[in-house]
Amino acid sequence: MGRKTEMSIGHDFRPKVVGFLCNWCCYGGADLAGVSRFQYPPFIRVVRLMCSGRVDLSFIFRSFMDGADAVFIGGCHINDCHYNTEGNYDALSMTHLCKKLLERAGIDPKRLRLEWVSAGEGIRFAEVMKDFGKEIKKLGPLGAGEGVSREELQRRINEVVRLIPYIKLAKREKLALHDPDEARYESLYSKEEIDALFRDAPSYYIDPAKCQACMICFKKCPVEAIDGGKNRIHVIDQGKCIKCGTCFEACPPRFNAVAKIIGDSIPEAIPEGQRTIVRKK
Ligand code: SF4
Ligand code: SF4
Repeated sequence: MGRKTEMSIGHDFRPKVVGFLCNWCCYGGADLAGVSRFQYPPFIRVVRLMCSGRVDLSFIFRSFMDGADAVFIGGCHINDCHYNTEGNYDALSMTHLCKKLLERAGIDPKRLRLEWVSAGEGIRFAEVMKDFGKEIKKLGPLGAGEGVSREELQRRINEVVRLIPYIKLAKREKLALHDPDEARYESLYSKEEIDALFRDAPSYYIDPAKCQACMICFKKCPVEAIDGGKNRIHVIDQGKCIKCGTCFEACPPRFNAVAKIIGDSIPEAIPEGQRTIVRKK
């Protein structure tokens, strides 16, 4: 009975694949496949972008969070990018980093695929889609295929998503690598390195005894994670903080009120009713 159910799920499973396609190459390839009536499974939901380099780590995790079983990125062949920035190198490095992050979250990295498809390669687009569709069908629905509940998966994805701005900052040099030797990217990110990212991610805390409510950090925080105001001790909302370190850099040395904490727990925030600073006359 169990086997029958398993088999029928496999047979009926229609994967949801989000496809980020570059306007100049892969989208043209997909279009050509369509007008030439090359057959491929109709699983892909296309998001057309000007360049594969525009695909952000957060797009991929958001796709999985919103129910995709797989994500496909299609760009121009290496050295064929239509922009001087050669965005497909960025896509290449980002994809390898993302695969490692997916592994950490317990998601099979084969659910993410990057391919180069030119506008003249309609047949190749259809072949890649057929092959990817087959592979994802084999893996099964996201979560069920990994043996992880939907809730647990969301929790793990959230853990990664919260750190994406920090990860991009910490790995900015590797993310900007432009090396025509694609094999180099295979080993660009190690598991140990990814574990260290999560283990050593800093937290920032404002010492209420030192904060002078100058509001510099409040104005500079890029995500409005600091609660503050005139004559108010400032407090960081840890749930919103993206660990960019701007407040740490911006707090004037004479106050030195922002602490960077690694590995230790963050002290409780000072209660709302005790945040007013009473200045001596
Ligand atoms: S580390 Fe960055 S995001 Fe976090 S509170 Fe400071 S400025 Fe805001
Ligand atoms: S910059 Fe420093 S002193 Fe000024 S409000 Fe922020 S934490 Fe307080």
